[in-house]
Amino acid sequence: MRIILLGAPGSGKGTQSQRLIERCHIPQVSTGDLLRAAVANGTELGRKAKPVMDAGQLVSDDIMLGVIRERLSEPDVGRGFVLDGFPRNLAQARALDELLAQLGQPLDTVVVLEVDQAELVRRISGRRTCRRCDRVFNVFTSPPAPGETCPANGGPHELFQRPDDKESTVEKRLRVYEEKTRPLVDFYAARGILRKLPAEGDVDAVAARLQSVLKKKG
Ligand code: AMP
Repeated sequence: MRIILLGAPGSGKGTQSQRLIERCHIPQVSTGDLLRAAVANGTELGRKAKPVMDAGQLVSDDIMLGVIRERLSEPDVGRGFVLDGFPRNLAQARALDELLAQLGQPLDTVVVLEVDQAELVRRISGRRTCRRCDRVFNVFTSPPAPGETCPANGGPHELFQRPDDKESTVEKRLRVYEEKTRPLVDFYAARGILRKLPAEGDVDAVAARLQSVLKKKG
């Protein structure tokens, strides 16, 4: 199964990708996670990407195509993948088509997660990540349970806010989504592989809807 999850920042692509990995045992390919790892490791890619990410802009297509090409040549994606955060514009979508054609692995389904703008802002501003175990919480909707310990250190989770989740940057990221990424909805709809998923409400309910959308396709 080769899937793209499309959607604005905060629409739940990462969370729902995690659910798919657990259910379908296919890897999540998150370009945002790959870039954040590069930043944390202080690689050349990370040094180039960090200021662009912090400003809520898109990293250049050249760089991103290099990242995705490398990741999709790893053996674990032979069984399929969930793309989360790629493609982000039409040039990336066309380049992905070419790459997947070369690999003989065409896309099966593109699912767009639809969430109201006010809800997106609420979700993003509440998002916190544990710097030890990388788990993502939301201080409004899904905080750590009382007394919950981090599996990485046995103590409480150490939560931090992604620099690009600050309110000043969020607006910019949502504008970039509308301008550059939303046109992909029509691009994939024209191919007949787009499915729309109402993605508000309970995470489990959205996961169940996603599952049924993917089953219908298969
Ligand atoms: P995400 O975690 O998907 O929200 O990505 C965080 C940031 O990483 C984005 O705001 C961009 O700066 C950068 N990024 C991630 N994926 C891409 C992509 N496909 N193209 C360009 N920039 C990206």
